[in-house]
Amino acid sequence: MNLPHPNPEGTLVILSGAGLSAASGVPTFRDADGLWEGYEVTQVATPEAWHLNPTLVRRFYDERRLSCGEVLPNAGHAALTQLQQSWGSQRVILVTQNIDGLLTLAGADSVIEMHGSLFRLRCEAAADHPTPALTGGQDPTSTCELCGRPLRPDVVWFGEMPYFMDDIYAALNHCTTFLSVGTSGLVYPAAGFSAEARSRGALCIEVNPKPAGGPYHHVVDEGSETALPRMVDQWMEGPGAGG
Ligand SMILES: [Zn+2]
Repeated sequence: MNLPHPNPEGTLVILSGAGLSAASGVPTFRDADGLWEGYEVTQVATPEAWHLNPTLVRRFYDERRLSCGEVLPNAGHAALTQLQQSWGSQRVILVTQNIDGLLTLAGADSVIEMHGSLFRLRCEAAADHPTPALTGGQDPTSTCELCGRPLRPDVVWFGEMPYFMDDIYAALNHCTTFLSVGTSGLVYPAAGFSAEARSRGALCIEVNPKPAGGPYHHVVDEGSETALPRMVDQWMEGPGAGG
């Protein structure tokens, strides 16, 4: 497999989803039965669920946080981190739908966490109030230091707008390569990123053992934990090498 080398003057936007973390043992977001770890998403991952039953929602995210705290980045996270460290975070823009923090744990300097993070809390009234870090279970009495309202998990729920959309679209508008890794490609707005990048002339590549289909020039139907190290090695060797 020799993929085209990214434009040496250009930037890459790399969007990752659950497939990137699958080899680390992080459960994919929703199984085929539509349940997430045995729960309906409407019970645990919507603003309505939070208002109806904050205890259940807190417990659900506490369990996710504790189980994610035990998993380690895999070779796919390491490859993306290596590419960003080598080419710089201005040129390699990592955008992830994952809330597991594994790219950061792998050492990535800059990660746009568009769906938030399991390892932070936010104010239930305003996403731009302080977002304290958290590793264990959430104290149910914890409140926002700015306005005193209850704190909730800093994750984007169904019915809420993902974070950093202006930054992401700005990056898509000028990137020369767009790489999608392990995302279903079905959930908007992320599902529209590849079309946006392609319409701006970017080289579009998908890495996914079950390709989602979309406006890609190249599809690598393989797990990211084996495909990404090889691709990154090839790219870091330079456009003149091997291909
Ligand atoms: Zn607040």
